[in-house]
Amino acid sequence: MTDERSPAVEARQLVKRYGTVTAVDGVSFQARRGEIFGFLGANGAGKTTTLRMLCGLLRPTSGTALIDGIDIVAQPLPAKAKLGYLDEEPFVHPHLTGREFLDFVADLYGMARGPQREERKARLLNLFDLAQKDGELIGSYSHGMRQKIGLASLLIREPSVLLLDEPTNGLDPRSARLVKDLLEELAARGTTVLLSTHILEVAQALCRRVAIIDRGRIVAIGSMDELRVQTGSEGANLEDLFLKLTAGPESREMIERLLEGGS
Ligand code: ATP
Repeated sequence: MTDERSPAVEARQLVKRYGTVTAVDGVSFQARRGEIFGFLGANGAGKTTTLRMLCGLLRPTSGTALIDGIDIVAQPLPAKAKLGYLDEEPFVHPHLTGREFLDFVADLYGMARGPQREERKARLLNLFDLAQKDGELIGSYSHGMRQKIGLASLLIREPSVLLLDEPTNGLDPRSARLVKDLLEELAARGTTVLLSTHILEVAQALCRRVAIIDRGRIVAIGSMDELRVQTGSEGANLEDLFLKLTAGPESREMIERLLEGGS
């Protein structure tokens, strides 16, 4: 069962096919306990599909997803009890208030009712600046507010592994900063955070290691220094490395061709 030495999150040769489309094509990596691991890729590279397999929402065509060494397909309940997953479109209930939604999730996961739970709920609502929305239904929230209540609904349970799909997407700069600081603090206390993003500054600021996925395959994995060595790009920042590793047609050339065609 759980082995303290096993990685907090492990993808082993994950494959997902939709008909003739191979969305994820043999992805393998490990995230260690207490690290913030970044999963980077262009639009359509396979990030969401991989995260959804890791959290048990999607069944892999082949390969294995392990949380704390537990196979999420073979033993979904113990694996899911350890993790919190934030989808790129968070699953939040539009007909509940923020406070009711946090209670709903806490009940779902069997958290004892009482002052401790009430205090945690109040702290989360305050932290995410949602306390003043008390009484309003989530259906009336903005995208950023839904993102924040989604995140709060994971944190109320204190899972040891967080899988976050674009967690700062749609957040204003202050909220994005709050989320970044919070993730750093959680990781320092031992929570493992696997986050997907295409905002490279977020990854560069937060992640100890990153994996770069391109057309369903991992093309590089490691710390910034390791990626620089792998690509022979001394002094490069993450954006340079990302563009080098996921090279497509030169956009400048394509823009010129488009404008020539139009004139
Ligand atoms: P983005 O950054 O735009 O969210 P992503 O890296 O998360 O992209 P995915 O959503 O995982 O990418 O999609 C990977 C590929 O799989 C894409 O080509 C997408 O069109 C395809 N795909 C995803 N879901 C399905 C589906 N249900 N049916 C068919 N193809 C799908």
